[in-house]
Amino acid sequence: MPVLPYRSYALISREQLRQNYRSVRAAAGPGVAVMAVVKADAYGHGAEEVARVLVSEGVEWLGVSSVAEGVTLRRAGIPVPILVMTGVLPQEWQAVAEAKLTASVHSLEDLRALDRVARESGQSVEYHLKIDSGMNRLGTRAAAEEILTVLRSTTHARLNGLMTHFASAADYTSTQTEEQTEYFSGVIAQLREAGFTPPHVHMSSTNALAYRRNPSWLTMVRPGHALYGYVSPARGSAPKPLLNVKPVLTWKAKILTVKEIPEGARVGYGGVFRAPAPTRIAVLAAGYADGVSHRLSNKGKVIAAGKLVPILGTVCMDLTTIDISQTAPLAPGDEVTLLGREGDVSLDAQQMARMAGTISYAILCGIGARVERVYV
Ligand SMILES: *Cc1c(COP(=O)(O)O)cnc(C)c1O
Repeated sequence: MPVLPYRSYALISREQLRQNYRSVRAAAGPGVAVMAVVKADAYGHGAEEVARVLVSEGVEWLGVSSVAEGVTLRRAGIPVPILVMTGVLPQEWQAVAEAKLTASVHSLEDLRALDRVARESGQSVEYHLKIDSGMNRLGTRAAAEEILTVLRSTTHARLNGLMTHFASAADYTSTQTEEQTEYFSGVIAQLREAGFTPPHVHMSSTNALAYRRNPSWLTMVRPGHALYGYVSPARGSAPKPLLNVKPVLTWKAKILTVKEIPEGARVGYGGVFRAPAPTRIAVLAAGYADGVSHRLSNKGKVIAAGKLVPILGTVCMDLTTIDISQTAPLAPGDEVTLLGREGDVSLDAQQMARMAGTISYAILCGIGARVERVYV
């Protein structure tokens, strides 16, 4: 790998993405489709490139958050079905139809509105109806009978799927997942009995797939996190995760300057770090505007010259200071690893999240727009 000129960049391994996808594909097994979730710019990995790789691997569906994200993928020439998972605004229906996206509909009012728009424009649109099975976020809480009344009155909106979303699939101290599965299965059964048999029924994202909650896989699974190399740790006694996935993204930053500070010197805003002894410090060309969480101030770590070293003082907007007293000599222009591996030392988004008091998803999505994404 040649040294790249960027102050901070993310290396994204297409090969690791492929391997993660294959692990997901194999776990889901034959007869279960995979919808790869590429919302939020593929969790910071770059949705267009990630989608291209996954389409070349044969992924059946892609899932995005917004109509704008779906339109971007269509403009990039992505041909597979795309589900807009987080609903559609009234202003967006035209764009949904034009880009041939599949909408998720999460209330019966929205379903009536969608049908009206479709009728008035003379188009038929496909949608997945989202059922709130107990998370109390998006989805209709209406009973099957009420849903059926609206389904029977729609003329142009075509039911292509039924979906719901788990709140606690990695939590084995809770029965919420079983309760949600039972509720959703009940709704599906009642709709089926009334003759509504959409081709897709789905509820499982990474955790329900990884922890082998097979009864919830139905016709399709919707993993995101696993594709990027992560499975959240479980609570309680969970089965061993079924997936063999590794992080796709490595994050680097260059050293801007190196200096020696005497015992007692303070580092950064507020002087929150005070050197207990003479210390060699390096200032990195990445800060919270690049996604280095401010919460890593005075407690995070990075890998410098193959060693885990501490962040000193507050993380600034564009800069982060580290202690390199114990490493081999480093100079301006050298690189450190914010996420990734050097030799046998590694740091992943889950470890960084623990230090920052957040979750790995937020770390990945938080990597800033000015961090150059480089595909290898
Ligand atoms: C984000 C999301 C997913 C993917 O979740 P992961 O935990 O990343 O696998 C699946 N379904 C819906 C509705 C989502 O919002």
